[in-house]
Amino acid sequence: MMIAMRAEATLDEVKAVAQRIRDAGLTPVELPGGERTAIGIRSAIPVEIRDSLSAALETMPGVDHVTHISRPYKLASREFYPRNTVFSVGPVTFGGDEVVVMAGPCAIESEAQLRKAAEAVKQAGAKVLRGGAFKPRTSPYSFQGLGAEGLQMLRRVADDLGLITVTEVVDPSEVDLVVEYTDILQIGARNMQNFPLLIAAGETRCPILLKRGPSAAIDEWLLAAEYCLSRGSTQVLLCERGTHPIDRTYTRHTLDISAIPVTKEISHLPVIVDPSNATGVARYVPAMARAAVAAGADGLLIEVHPDPVCALCDGPQSLDCPTFARLMKELRPIAQAVGRSIE
Ligand code: PEP
Ligand code: MN
Repeated sequence: MMIAMRAEATLDEVKAVAQRIRDAGLTPVELPGGERTAIGIRSAIPVEIRDSLSAALETMPGVDHVTHISRPYKLASREFYPRNTVFSVGPVTFGGDEVVVMAGPCAIESEAQLRKAAEAVKQAGAKVLRGGAFKPRTSPYSFQGLGAEGLQMLRRVADDLGLITVTEVVDPSEVDLVVEYTDILQIGARNMQNFPLLIAAGETRCPILLKRGPSAAIDEWLLAAEYCLSRGSTQVLLCERGTHPIDRTYTRHTLDISAIPVTKEISHLPVIVDPSNATGVARYVPAMARAAVAAGADGLLIEVHPDPVCALCDGPQSLDCPTFARLMKELRPIAQAVGRSIE
């Protein structure tokens, strides 16, 4: 942390700031400059007092501004954990050489619909079956998902085909139920800052796929991951799914491709990209999926429906099965070109 004093700050004001830092158990270092004095802190600042100390110093007379040198999260950061997080869920390894493709319907509508999608995505090379049983919908009148019954279908179909599963949990009180049926818990974009949900998920030790909120800064997203990690979770996948768009005319959100290299630089956690919810338009999904792999994504989450026209949720952005199979073929040479693989 660096405290920049105002040019007209008095010697007493500088001393008072230094004393406040000492009172917090830390060692101030005065750095007189040509126009003004800056004060650094020699010792590491415990993360628990970082925000309150910074706020206290900002309000002191003579202080112009406070700058943070270290990031506000530690468990999610490469500053503290420099090596990539690599972990396996059953036979699937995240964060390694392989780009893991997760695919399936936005919502589980029936066992027959799920099975058709699952067989097709497995055949094309996907390793993880996605399918929403609890759907966070903008309107309370839209299809809300099959709930517990959907979870059972997901488990049955995935087990039959040798796939692992990812599905969303929307309520902290349902975390235990969802964990019983799934291999990876999805926390949706709308819930990125649902702190009780992040805590409840973090306490399960079930791997978590954490979507970035559409208006969330990367640091806010990593602080949300920190909630899960600080509760004991070590297996968090970060999922970029598009930010709030400037222009909604053509796409639902704006896929932040630059978030892939940025996030991978500052965090050791695997970064997954969801081009379906990002664009909201099926015909743009392949281009965005290719771009994500080229930019270094560790995985993709893609919505696939056997009959998108009849989908109860997110049909317009869902790929049909043949289009998904074609996309998988296109992705393999791209993965290879960037030193990765897709089976
Ligand atoms: C989804 O994956 O179907 C979903 C609801 O995504 P998001 O939370 O990114 O909107
Ligand atoms: Mn969806």
